[in-house]
Amino acid sequence: MSSLQINDLFWTLQGEGHFSGRRALFVRLPFCNYDCPWCDTEYNSYNEWTVDDFTAFATQEPSRFAVITGGEPIAHKHLSRILDLLKAQGFFIACETNGSVPVPETIDFVTTSPKAYTKNKKEPYFVAPENFQRTSEWKYVVDSSFDFSILERHQNAPENTFLSLSPEYGDMQNNVNEIMEYIKKNPRWRLSLQTHKWINIP
Ligand code: SF4
Repeated sequence: MSSLQINDLFWTLQGEGHFSGRRALFVRLPFCNYDCPWCDTEYNSYNEWTVDDFTAFATQEPSRFAVITGGEPIAHKHLSRILDLLKAQGFFIACETNGSVPVPETIDFVTTSPKAYTKNKKEPYFVAPENFQRTSEWKYVVDSSFDFSILERHQNAPENTFLSLSPEYGDMQNNVNEIMEYIKKNPRWRLSLQTHKWINIP
């Protein structure tokens, strides 16, 4: 069997969102179907992992919680093989996606973070129609230009769907203030902080 293209593979704590604080295997897959101007992820490089080495690394700790991220991991050609390998080891699998590509059923928890900038003339904050049902947690990054009206499309989201607003780091305090004002009137939404940046872990 050929090797797996992986940008980064590491154990850490999930730093944000519903599973914040949980020990997790992070699987960062290379490449993205967008090219957002603010992107700070170096997603184009990768190492080749053999299946045996990948499985050995994934099972070296007792946690069976994995986070698949990218780039845009759902668009990656090796995704289904990686999901099968993790499922065979009993992992609960979460993913972080821009929402533009339908998410496979194998993934247990889907965090969708739609982007204001999209490629190929899709509308801002485009989400593939299938992903409105598949998403477990919506996460929007709020900066000074964020238009809160886009959130109205989630007002009838199922009760068990998590709704998160994450302040853009550059102007943290103002963005937090904007979020807090919004949450006063829309209490289903929560402030979500990137705690891993505060405690300086990957
Ligand atoms: S979707 Fe995410 S990973 Fe892809 S370019 Fe935009 S910010 Fe970067």
